[in-house]
Amino acid sequence: MRALTEKKIVLASHNAGKLKEIAALVEPFGITVVSAGELGFTEPEETEDTFAGNARIKAHFAAQASGLPALSDDSGLSVDALNGAPGVYTADWAETPNGRDFSMAMKKVWDKLENMNAPEPRSAAFNCTLCLAWPDGHDEIFEGKVNGTLSWPMRGDQGFGFDPIFTPIGESETFGEMDPQKKRDMSHRAVAFSKLRKLLEN
Ligand code: IMP
Repeated sequence: MRALTEKKIVLASHNAGKLKEIAALVEPFGITVVSAGELGFTEPEETEDTFAGNARIKAHFAAQASGLPALSDDSGLSVDALNGAPGVYTADWAETPNGRDFSMAMKKVWDKLENMNAPEPRSAAFNCTLCLAWPDGHDEIFEGKVNGTLSWPMRGDQGFGFDPIFTPIGESETFGEMDPQKKRDMSHRAVAFSKLRKLLEN
């Protein structure tokens, strides 16, 4: 595994919720971050059908454009009764002509489960793949997953995306209700990050 010797990296994401969580994870290692948005980069098209494939596209794009190592996150919600959907298309389910609407997207997921009479508990998982790519084309991939159940109505406004309907196994609060630090410690992103941490500590 290649060590990260550079002290400045690009966060290859335009998602404010992810940027906040990833910056909080990386900064204690003395690494300063600049986001792809701050550098004026556009978002590359996510044309792969795996989290790792799309994470690679985003990280390599930002590393090439900036000349700095770049860290991307491709993540999503996989619902068992929907055969893993929305999965890599999680953000797409929220698209509207006026931008992303996650309340609408959560309702879409819940309505599908209701219409098919999906048995309770309605199990799902959040997946996260982090990709750290260097301008010379090398990359490292780290994966994390957290299992949980979906519930309705939505609860909590602490998180982002699909947090208000997802309760991790063993907890009573949704990710939307949970204290942000607690979510940061146990989320799919935290699991992936705990693997990346080894590379930062080297
Ligand atoms: P992408 O990785 O940019 O393709 O988008 C993944 C989508 O998954 C995000 O837009 C969120 O809606 C959702 N997502 C990923 N991580 C989380 C999370 O920690 N909480 C809630 N939703 C998430």
